[in-house]
Amino acid sequence: MAKNRFAFFRGAIRPIEEAKISVMTSGFNYGTGVFEGIRAFWNAEEQELFVFRMREHYLRLLRSARVLLMDLPYSADDLGQITLELLRREGYREDVYIRPIAYKSSEEIGVRLHNLECDLAIFAVPFQAYLPEGGIRAMVSSWRRVEDNAIPARAKITGAYVNSALAKTEAYLAGFDEAIVLNEDGQVAEGSAENLFLVREGTLITPPITANILEGITRDTVIALARDLGIPVVERPVDRTELYLAEEVFLTGTAAGLAPVVEIDRRRIGAGKPGPIFTRLRDLYERLVRGKEPRYRAWCTPVYSAPAR
Ligand code: PMP
Repeated sequence: MAKNRFAFFRGAIRPIEEAKISVMTSGFNYGTGVFEGIRAFWNAEEQELFVFRMREHYLRLLRSARVLLMDLPYSADDLGQITLELLRREGYREDVYIRPIAYKSSEEIGVRLHNLECDLAIFAVPFQAYLPEGGIRAMVSSWRRVEDNAIPARAKITGAYVNSALAKTEAYLAGFDEAIVLNEDGQVAEGSAENLFLVREGTLITPPITANILEGITRDTVIALARDLGIPVVERPVDRTELYLAEEVFLTGTAAGLAPVVEIDRRRIGAGKPGPIFTRLRDLYERLVRGKEPRYRAWCTPVYSAPAR
């Protein structure tokens, strides 16, 4: 597995050793950063690396930045070009995870968003499997999801990930693979870093974007694929016990991909193995992210055959 050698930092691609911030950095002290997780998938037949839905990820980053009053001097297209250049410099020939992060970069004390500089960094590392394959055993967390009027989950804010980390580690220490987090009103929000889908009577159901979830790009992809396959999809509030009674439950995320949940709170879900609707969607997703489905090829940006700027 290759190691990353570069980062985009303070306006240029530099050796990773030079991409360091001060302990006084405002974003480090107060969690006032916004970030993205993007993946690029290696296609061995074409000898090409494809970045998946890069533009949508950068548009989401810019929306998150607006919530934290950050004025970044880059468009989504600029950030895409920088990313392609970084990946070419790295020369990766394997699956990659890309992490852009924008943060309040002034080195001074004082909790606020206004009158602070901000900066943006991007690095990319070889991808490692995020969740166990084959089937996830999950628990409903005792931690509740952050509310839109406390720390908006819709924006991918670094400080909000304390909430995800509390839930994830509680689940891990209790012997589970993943946490499912409820809202303050007791309904299902999402996993610690994944959106959630369930199947009831053949209909695919997922909590709405007003349920204090991140508006996931994999979620959006799955909804589009389900519609293309003629699978009915509904976005609506989901009760905790609907999870127990579902025929299928699965999680979606850039890192997780599509991951089947086979047990929740020690109750077996469906047949206790990946279900048929999940399997259809997952198999299609796995092919299309590598550019192997012409219909969805527009979502895949080639790294090496794209013209350099
Ligand atoms: N919810 C949370 C809290 C997340 O951190 C992520 C990962 N970015 C997701 C959902 C899934 O979003 P996406 O499909 O865009 O990766």
